[in-house]
Amino acid sequence: MLPNFFYHPRLLKYDFGPQHPLRPERLRRTTELLSSWGVEMIDPGPGELADALRLHSPEYVAAVQRAIELSPAERRQFGFGSDTPPFPGMAEAALAYLAATVRAAETVRDGAMLAFGIGGGLHHAQRGNASGFCVYNDPAIACHILRERFERVAYIDIDLHHGDGVQDLFCEDPSVLTCSIHQDGRTLYPGTGFAEDSCAQRSALNIPLLPGTTGDTWLWAFREGILPLVRTFKPDAIVLQMGTDSHYLDPLGHLENTAQEWLHAVQDVRDLSLPTVALGGGGYTLNAVPRMWTAACLTLAGIEVPERLPEPYGSAWGTPYFLDQELPSPRGQGKDYAEEVVRIVSNG
Ligand SMILES: [Zn+2]
Repeated sequence: MLPNFFYHPRLLKYDFGPQHPLRPERLRRTTELLSSWGVEMIDPGPGELADALRLHSPEYVAAVQRAIELSPAERRQFGFGSDTPPFPGMAEAALAYLAATVRAAETVRDGAMLAFGIGGGLHHAQRGNASGFCVYNDPAIACHILRERFERVAYIDIDLHHGDGVQDLFCEDPSVLTCSIHQDGRTLYPGTGFAEDSCAQRSALNIPLLPGTTGDTWLWAFREGILPLVRTFKPDAIVLQMGTDSHYLDPLGHLENTAQEWLHAVQDVRDLSLPTVALGGGGYTLNAVPRMWTAACLTLAGIEVPERLPEPYGSAWGTPYFLDQELPSPRGQGKDYAEEVVRIVSNG
């Protein structure tokens, strides 16, 4: 049984509108699929401003509270542009998202080995502004909560995009190692996350990969670039951001990951056998997100992932298999660049 899964349908109200790629349907389908395993969805409650204030500035939190009334200049100041447009009810929805992650982090802080906040993973939000669909930086706040009990926390981010907000919020804090594997910032938002970044006492680790990099290279770089340095850091707990947008079907990026290669990385994190807060993140194709998140949650909980989605979902959604049946080809793309990046981060 999947433990400590925090979710409530009010999270579906985090919705920037029908034209926006971050569709609540991804969450609805994932939780529907997980219900086939009898997963108990625990209501995380509406959330509290005090949790946002752990890492966000009071000015910004106040601005989120009245987001749709902000002047154009204030919108610019607080990062509410076309990517992250204010909508009625944004304050409550952002806090509901945060609440699920906070409850998951508190549950692990208080002794559980594993907890889920699959709506979370909004890794781009900064201390004083929204960015890239992200209002509150729940993964960073999860790290902050874990630090109340654990000496050293590793943040592992397998989203297509660099986890810039989390890195920036902990750049001066060597007790939190932030790791991110992503498409190279010279070719994709947010334009950051280079192998040479290090922060205080090498507490930031970045593996940027070229557009077109295939999943075999991606997994190799994760295993050679991130895992050894995480082990050396000797964390006491993990926050895992499980963005699925590195999948080859995703419309926002140019990495060519398959569900199975991505899932291997999740399995590797599970095999670290550390207390873990598992969060969602990006992922913008309904052909991939629900099956990848479901497979990841099952994997982390040590439950075997079946070959096919339970019915009626496999037929209704047109994606009958959890894993990809065809691999993008040719394989081995982006390897030279990945080798150079891994060499740089390994030599520090
Ligand atoms: Zn992303």
